This record gives sequence, structure tokens and C-alpha cells, in this order.
Amino acid sequence: MINKINQCRSCGDKGIHKFFDMGAQPFANALLADPENAERRYPLELSWCENCRLVQLNHTADPKELFSNYVWVTGTSSTAQTHANMFCEETLLRAQSFDNGSYVLELASNDGTFLKPFMAKGVKVLGVDPAENVVQMARREGVRTHCGFFGDDLANELLKEHGPARVVIARNVLPHVANLSDFVRGMRSVMADDGLAVIEAHYGAIIQRQLHYDSIYHEHLCYFTLESISTLLHNHDLEIFDISKSPISGGSLIIFARKAGRQASMAVERLLTHEAEAGVNELGSWENFSADSQAHKKLTMNILENQLDSGARIIGYGASARSSTLLNFCGIGAQHLSVIADQNLMKQKLYTAGSHIPISSPEEVMKTNPDTVFILAWNFLQEIKGILSDRFGFGGRLIVPFPGNPSVISGKGK
Ligand SMILES: [Zn+2]
Repeated sequence: MINKINQCRSCGDKGIHKFFDMGAQPFANALLADPENAERRYPLELSWCENCRLVQLNHTADPKELFSNYVWVTGTSSTAQTHANMFCEETLLRAQSFDNGSYVLELASNDGTFLKPFMAKGVKVLGVDPAENVVQMARREGVRTHCGFFGDDLANELLKEHGPARVVIARNVLPHVANLSDFVRGMRSVMADDGLAVIEAHYGAIIQRQLHYDSIYHEHLCYFTLESISTLLHNHDLEIFDISKSPISGGSLIIFARKAGRQASMAVERLLTHEAEAGVNELGSWENFSADSQAHKKLTMNILENQLDSGARIIGYGASARSSTLLNFCGIGAQHLSVIADQNLMKQKLYTAGSHIPISSPEEVMKTNPDTVFILAWNFLQEIKGILSDRFGFGGRLIVPFPGNPSVISGKGK
């Protein structure tokens, strides 16, 4: 089931303008056990709000259907683990001191990867996640985790049971939230009065500039810039006072906010000015993004077809949710990529949604001696390149679809 919106997800304005139609697409994480069982497809379109300039999906899918077989586990990526330590340092740098009873609350805490560095420093933590299977994983690792959907009701429950949180973390979750007001209100409710909110999200300006159209799928309802997230938080009496960048998703923005007004850092002012000067939040820039994404699709297919014409055997690497949009939007199937390698055991022996390409372990896939590897999880390029050369001695070609236009590089060396 899927519903079309008739007002902005953030500010409620009716002036939303469609600028990108990616056609009917399957749910990115709906991997198939049997490719004969054709999956359902749903419209995938982006709009821009003329009031708060938030870029957002035109449709909301039923979360029960969307997240029913959720297979992403944070801890499987070493990039994520390195970032978790940096994230902890950056957060503690800006948090007030922790007294007895105060704790770090993480919303959508997944397997607890990002709470572990806080625990290692003796800070009390609490995770919240709706997926029972990952909550069990977190608890097995000793990460205190509550299973449930976060909103203002749960925030008040947590407040009663655990008291106010010193820090509330929401990493890569805000873009998934259908009821933004309820979620942000909940963040504010559960925070201590002098507490800190830390939000990380794939940065809209990078999506636009580097053509990350592969990040558009039904689970990602919103694509935030500093301006659009500032407006959302401001409407709920939260003010951004500092920012940081992260490599997650190929370029993310981390924002730090508080309840009471505190002077915004120079970095916040500079980035807002940069967005204004570059026209990041203008409808015209997003219309260009749409046209450039169509051109990118043609270039990608040309590269694949030229390689196949010259007799190369091509495999894919990384059956990420993002790869689903890339494969389906470009029309890449098993006739182009015979198989996709993925380290996640939960994905192996399944088929990709819509494109129906089999997924297998990197060991099985590399035994077939491919000539060319199409790096689908390109935001982990260095990590994957290292695995290919160190573990498998691969020295063939890599097709790297992003950032910007696709390129073919040598897989030799680091
Ligand atoms: Zn709006």
C-alpha cells in the first residue's frame, strides 16, 4: 500500500512541485528468494516544497510492508565502525558533562554499533529500534535497547522510566520518518533542558552536486539540506548551533542542536551562505539534477555495453538498498551483471528486487574470475577495493558509478 502526499512533510504547505519521476520501482530491500515471484512496483517521484524548500518523496509506503524484511545491519561495515568512534568523540566534545543518571539515547540504534564507543567511555546508553531481530543482536552485545517505534508517545514513556536524556542521537533515521513533527517533538520531549540533539543525514547538497540519485528509494522520504533541516527543527523550538561532516552515505551532514538559543558557529553561517550562493535550495537546481541523472543513466549503460561487447565478464559488488534504485532506474539486469557479491549473510542466496540478479558471497563470486567489477556500494569504494586486491588478488577493471559521472578505473593496488 502506498499513499500520495498532498502537503509538505515538514511544514504542511500545499505548494509542492514534482521535479523527478523515476518510474515504478520495487521496494529496495525486498530481496527475493524466488525470482519467479514478481514483486510489486510503486511510484518513485520527488517533489520540492516552495515554502521550506524540503525535497521529498511524493508517496509514503506502509512501513509494515516496507520494513518487513529489513536486512541492513550497521556492524557489517568497517567504515561504519571507524565512523562510530569519530561520531562519539564529536558528540562528547559538544555535550555538557554527564552526571549520575544521565545517558545517551539513540533512536533507530540498529545493532548498537554507534552506542558501543560511548559505553567504552563509561557513559550510560539506551537504544531504541523497531526491528526485533537487530534489537536482539544489540542486547546480546550488552547494549541496553528498547524495541519500539519512536514518536512523542514513546518519548514520554522513556522520560518517565529513564529520566531526561543528556544526548539524543538520530543517525540516518530522520529521512525515513513519515510523521516528522511527531518524531522531532519526541526528541525535544525526551531531551534534558540543556541536552544535545545530534542528527546525521545524507546531505542534500551532495546528493544534488554528485548526482546521488541512487539514494532515492521508498524508505528515504526526505532529502535534507542545512536550510530545510534548520526550518524543521526551528518549527519545534530546536536550534542548530554547530555542524560537522561525515563520509557516511557518500557525504552526510551532522547537525548539533539545543533547546535554548545558543550562538550558531561560523561553520553553520558559512554553510547556509554557501547553500544560498550555490542555489542548492532552488527548484531549478533540482530540475537540473533530474536531467543530469537521466544523462548519467545513458553514460552508465554505454560503459556496461562497451565492456560486454569486448567480451568482459562483469559482476556487481554490494547489494545495498541504493544499488536497487541504480539497477532498476538504469535497467541493469542479470544479462549485464551475472551475479552480485555481498558480505551480508542475510542477503546471500537471494535475488535483487526488480532486477533479479542473484546475490552470493564474495568468495563464491570471485572464484568465477570476473574481468570487471561494477562497484554498486560505491560509497565503500576504498574498503571494497582493498578486499578485492588483498583477499582475492583482483587486478581487473572497476566501474565506479558515482560520485558525479561513472568512471572505469584499475582495480590494482590501493
Ligand atoms: Zn515545506
